[in-house]
Amino acid sequence: MWNYYPELLETPVPRYTSFPTAAEFGPGIGAEDVEAALQRARGDVSLYLHVQICEKICWYCGCNTGASNKTQRLASYLDALHREIAITGVRLGREVKVRRIAFGGGSPNAISPTDFVRLVDALTLHMPLYDPAWSIELDPRTLTADWCQVMGVVGVSYASMGVQTFDPALQAAIGRVQPDTEIARAVDMLRTNGIRSLNFDLMYGLPGQTLAMLEQTLERTIKLGADRIALFGYAHVPHLIPRQRRIDGSNLPDQAQRFAMAAFGYRLLTSAGYVPVGFDHFAKPGDPMAGAVEQGTLRRNFQGFTDDQAQTLLGLGASAIGCFPDLLVQNEKNAGRYRMLLSQDRLPAAHGIRRSADDQRRGAVIEALLCHGKASLDADLATEAATRLAPFTQRGLARLDQGMLTIAPGGLPYARTIAASFDPYRQDSARRFSSAV
Ligand code: SF4
Repeated sequence: MWNYYPELLETPVPRYTSFPTAAEFGPGIGAEDVEAALQRARGDVSLYLHVQICEKICWYCGCNTGASNKTQRLASYLDALHREIAITGVRLGREVKVRRIAFGGGSPNAISPTDFVRLVDALTLHMPLYDPAWSIELDPRTLTADWCQVMGVVGVSYASMGVQTFDPALQAAIGRVQPDTEIARAVDMLRTNGIRSLNFDLMYGLPGQTLAMLEQTLERTIKLGADRIALFGYAHVPHLIPRQRRIDGSNLPDQAQRFAMAAFGYRLLTSAGYVPVGFDHFAKPGDPMAGAVEQGTLRRNFQGFTDDQAQTLLGLGASAIGCFPDLLVQNEKNAGRYRMLLSQDRLPAAHGIRRSADDQRRGAVIEALLCHGKASLDADLATEAATRLAPFTQRGLARLDQGMLTIAPGGLPYARTIAASFDPYRQDSARRFSSAV
């Protein structure tokens, strides 16, 4: 049972896929920092490749992506990505083992299956791969049988599809029309070709969306056998994401309705047997993500909740973010400048932040709260946060006892806001972030 306290959700907060968040990135970080970090890297490392293109652009999307209708531009982008793979691989420390590779975007399946295989070949050639787990984000509207077969041959076993809603009117309202039959066909092809964990991205808070529409989408998702479900609240911020201007914002659910939708989704999915993962993800029992929840090994990185234990994540591609224990770094976002840097064999790091010891300490607390619902606090952090936590502890949403901060089951929708109590950068966040529900 979740109680709605609007006053606790007034201030927008980050999603905390890192700490410090990308909003704190600055220009003082560059190629030399990344070069040194690559050479220092040891042990298990994960890779993320950003494919910065989509065949069809959705109006709600805040990703750094563009339409794939310029063949030459796409070819140049892929050339640059190949170059980045090569010059990164050669700089990596000798004891590195790459055990996970994720393709995201954009829509990786906007490139041809042949181009995908070429990227896989380049990774095999230039990176120290140790039987990695392959995962990919897919657009079901443009997924072909050829693509699925190639994934099967490569051994991709984790896939995530952008579905958002099954309701045709809502799909039209957000500029992403994809009939049920198209999604069902994609699921069939993926299962036939070896995808063993399939995630559906869904959204609530869409213009004109009702609880009945959300229920229908969730029931259909369950019926199609999704192993994982991410249920995000749509953030309507056309001042930050110009393509959202095409969405009619006059009919958006208000904060109370959004809260009711998040609570409804949580109830429906957990009643259907899904294990809650953090505050907005769900996994079937037996899925590795549910296993990570049960074993207390769930983590959070730029890709969201994850069972990945690697401390280093290399981001390749324009705008991709890399994470080292003491450094967060983002590649050049502009595709033209990204290509230009790679044409000169320069690592395309553009900005980022060094993670101080204090950042790392606070980041560990924030990650633990979001992943495990509890965190052990140093005496000074407990003292510092006591006043900010009081609105939550007084309402029974969290408990602070002998340095252990625990979020109560009813406090889950406030988890991000509670986590923000430990974020010293977060004093002026009104414009930049989304609502916590
Ligand atoms: S939602 Fe996915 S398919 Fe749509 S524009 Fe964004 S990245 Fe591309």
